[in-house]
Amino acid sequence: MGEYTVIVLSNKRKAAHQNSNGICILCNKPILSHEKWSVEHFIPRAIYKWIPKPEIEWQVESDANLFAVHMDCNLNKNAEIPTVRTINALRVAPSVKEKLLLVYWAIYDDIEAYRSMKQSVWAKQNGACAFCEKAIRLTKATLRRIDNRFERSRENAMCLCFHCSLRAARPAHKQKMVNRKRLLSK
Ligand SMILES: [Zn+2]
Ligand SMILES: [Zn+2]
Repeated sequence: MGEYTVIVLSNKRKAAHQNSNGICILCNKPILSHEKWSVEHFIPRAIYKWIPKPEIEWQVESDANLFAVHMDCNLNKNAEIPTVRTINALRVAPSVKEKLLLVYWAIYDDIEAYRSMKQSVWAKQNGACAFCEKAIRLTKATLRRIDNRFERSRENAMCLCFHCSLRAARPAHKQKMVNRKRLLSK
């Protein structure tokens, strides 16, 4: 990482901490100085990964969308796609909420397109994880590529539970499971 990258990262952390006013937006408890925390994109990055448009990436990566969360809280969070209701429920300053809503409305159509893509993949799997086949709630499901060699698309997408999606981050494990479940031969 060059010096520039480090500066950008620390600016992002600063913006996230400021927007949250030092409070974790997931548990609403203060982030103490000894606690580990990370930068949370309230409108998830997955949206511009699955719908690759520079303007979505720009909006999702803007300071207004960054918040601070405890590292532990981040591991247990839902993969819920934001709505006006979840934005209004945030315990942050009204001005911070207003800026976040601007980001939300700017890419509303793309957020909805991502929501419907995820929902259709999940429904195609009858609401079960593609790997372990346990029933998963839509808000707990994570969208992953079936085959890393190809672009992200509805056809190349599968829904995994949180546990399987963590394991699928290892390409060797993912390929083994994709082969075992015959997800490519459909
Ligand atoms: Zn927390
Ligand atoms: Zn699973």
